Parts: sequence; structure tokens; C-alpha cells
Amino acid sequence: MNILQFISTFPTEEKCLEHFAAMRLERGIKCEKCGCQTKHYWLQDQKRFKCSKCKTKSSYKSGTLMENSKLTIQQWFMMLHLMTSTKKTFSALEMQRQLGVKRYEPVWYAMHKIRSTMGKRDEKYKLMGEIEIDDAFFTTVDLDRDKEEEMKRGRGSQKKSQVMVMVESVPCEPNKNKHKPSRKMGYVKMVVMDDLTSTGINYEVKKAVDSQTKVLTDGWRGYSKLPEVVAEHHQETVPAEEAHKNYRGFTQTSETQSVCLTASTTQSAKDTFKTI
Ligand SMILES: [Zn+2]
Repeated sequence: MNILQFISTFPTEEKCLEHFAAMRLERGIKCEKCGCQTKHYWLQDQKRFKCSKCKTKSSYKSGTLMENSKLTIQQWFMMLHLMTSTKKTFSALEMQRQLGVKRYEPVWYAMHKIRSTMGKRDEKYKLMGEIEIDDAFFTTVDLDRDKEEEMKRGRGSQKKSQVMVMVESVPCEPNKNKHKPSRKMGYVKMVVMDDLTSTGINYEVKKAVDSQTKVLTDGWRGYSKLPEVVAEHHQETVPAEEAHKNYRGFTQTSETQSVCLTASTTQSAKDTFKTI
């Protein structure tokens, strides 16, 4: 969904509420008193749900990420949209500006909740099928902590982190364009690693990847014990002069790393959108 589609789908707070209430009714609402999933009615004029069994009413926000938040649903929806549909990373300060919200804290808190939920969903999901695993150094930047001006001058808390990237890799239809990759990405998981020993690699792969998968890696010795945790393992050695090219599914260029990040964020965000 692009920004114009977003605006036409959610033009007002009322439209957002309508969509949100319908989404919650469809998924089912847990009654605070009955303690279980019961049939609820939506009371439009009171903006509340009513349990059909014990008649207890509950706020439309209760039991969701929005509980206790003073931000409007439209602001929450816009935040989710901006955090998931663009490649740009939004700091809470920038988000506050974009939403036109006076206070910084509610925005920071809401973004933190969204990211945390996305992270929990990521943890539950296990990568399946054919997986490519590679490692790379990423520059990590704390946008909330560093003032923009300092960042522009290259100061701030930028540092390099060694990251293991695990990506579901699906073969594409054959195409004549040699520049197009022959495989496309599915879900992506990334883990910051202290080192790349086989013990650490196997521990993380076991957590993140289904045991029935087929895994492709480069020839690094740390990957050699992967057959202990996955069904099949193939190691391919990448010649140094080829390392910058699109090799297998993804490359080690910073551009593709950002694509990997975006793909990961977008996939889990789509799920998060359903849960708020
Ligand atoms: Zn009830």
C-alpha cells in the first residue's frame, strides 16, 4: 500500500475505528470478566465492545498494543505504515514530526511496542524450505539517541556489528536477463553474532530454522557442522572477485543488506498489523 492508497483507505479517525473494530470482531475478543473468547457486539455510539454473555463493556483499545495510549488509531495506523512500507528508518523524533504530535514519549513508547511485537513474532517463526546463510558487517546507528546534525557530521554511536543473515530462498522462473537474480527472498532472520564459530552458528540456526531445511552457505569453516541441525547442507566457495556480485540470492553490498532489512521488517510488520 502506497501513501495515496493509505490516505484513501484511512482518511479519517472514524474510518480507522470502523476498520479496527471490524478487524477485532473478526478475530474474536476475549472478555475481561468471562476470561474467554466470547461473542461481542460493537457499540458504535459508545466506541465500546459488549460481551454477549455477561454484558461487560470494554474499550476498543483494551487488550491491544494501543491500550493506555493517547495516540489516535489513525496515528497508530500511520506509524505502522511508515515503519513497514518504506525503506527509510524512522526515529521516534522524526515520527513525532510526521504525525504532528506534541509529546515525544507516546510516540517513542508506541514504536517500541510495535518493534517488540514484530520481534516476538519473528522469534516464533521458523524459516523453511531452502535457506541461504551468510554473514556480513552492518553499521548500526541509534537514531533516537543521536541528534541528526551529529549524524550528518559522521559522529554519534555508529559501530559495526557482525550479523548472520538467514534468508528463505526460492528459485524464480528462468529469465533471460542475466542481471536479474535467479532466486527471490522469502522471510529473513538476522542475528548479531559475537563470533562465527560452529557452536554459535549451530545454536542460532537451530533456533531460527526448521530442521527439515536445505541450507546453502559459503565455505567458512564455522558452517561445517550445520548438518547436525539441518537436513541438508551445501557449501559453495565464493571467489574473492565475485563476492561483490549478486551471488545466489543476495549479495554483501550495503544496498542489498538494506533490502534484506526491509524485507524482514515488512514481512513481520504485515503480521503485526493484524495483531494490534
Ligand atoms: Zn463476558
